[in-house]
Amino acid sequence: MIVVMEQNATEDQVKSIASRIEAMGLKATVIVGTERTVIAAIGEKRGTFKDSIESCPGVSEVTPISAPYKMASREVRPEPSLIRVRDFAAGAGQVGYVAGPCSVESEEQLMSSARAVKAAGATGLRGGAFKPRTSPYSFQGMKEDGLKLLSAARDETGLAVFTEVMATEDVDLVARYADVLQVGARNMQNYRLLEAVGKSGKPVLLKRGASATMDEFLLAAEYILNEGNDQVMLCERGIRTFESHTRFTLPLASVPYLHRRTHLPVIIDPSHGTGHTYMVHDLAVAAVAAGADGLIIEVHPDPSNAMSDGYQSQTFEAFAETMKRCRKVQAALAEE
Ligand code: PEP
Ligand code: MN
Repeated sequence: MIVVMEQNATEDQVKSIASRIEAMGLKATVIVGTERTVIAAIGEKRGTFKDSIESCPGVSEVTPISAPYKMASREVRPEPSLIRVRDFAAGAGQVGYVAGPCSVESEEQLMSSARAVKAAGATGLRGGAFKPRTSPYSFQGMKEDGLKLLSAARDETGLAVFTEVMATEDVDLVARYADVLQVGARNMQNYRLLEAVGKSGKPVLLKRGASATMDEFLLAAEYILNEGNDQVMLCERGIRTFESHTRFTLPLASVPYLHRRTHLPVIIDPSHGTGHTYMVHDLAVAAVAAGADGLIIEVHPDPSNAMSDGYQSQTFEAFAETMKRCRKVQAALAEE
């Protein structure tokens, strides 16, 4: 249920309603908006909830939350959320650019990538140290050594480090080095992992599962939010369809749909979403035009010799071109 407070409700009134809700065995979250304060009451509601709260001083109305997800819903938080990590900002009109290699491979590879993407205008650095690979015989990532290189790259460039955490038992380790914890598509419904990244207090980039519906995606985000972590970004990285001309099918319709349903920023991954380097530029530009709050793009100093995903990685020069074009689209949209 959402308890909408009157515009002139006092802080004491808000506090007293929140404790009343908690006393009923529900979780109360106070959300202060520019227009009004609302309290989200989440849990098994009792029949008398609406009547007993609606008559309290300071309360304007009590309405049910119709979406299955609650904290992620726009019904609870009508204003878009802004996620800021170092100079990276996504949401509420800010577009955040994250770029870097699929996997961290060496100091030289990562540092040169970090310098290049920073020079092109990115504010986030991606790089997998723990890699979810289809085959157990493929490169599995540099693990903690990779995390150390990411941390060194952040120290030199100031870029916010985005890196994947694959297992609950690795959350503390990865959180020590990363600025943003990435939960990969294969783990979108690993609920214990979602709870653990929720508890970490670090911002999270949650990637959509390749066969997940939007409700499943948002309910996965809800697991993180439910731990009190409101720093969640949703990443559309493409879904599996009957099509084979692309690695996955990248639905840009996810941007307006998610913006209608949730306040969380929406980041598009045109690299995994297409699986072809030559498509990345156009889809990146289209995503910004569609209103995406950010992009995450694979960039490698020598894509044809990359240890993973080289066929969808941009060169430094190509990425710089993509950044320029995206910025132009952003500027054109801002002029309106
Ligand atoms: C990645 O970002 O390198 C990755 C493995 O992505 P996804 O989880 O979307 O497949
Ligand atoms: Mn990859």
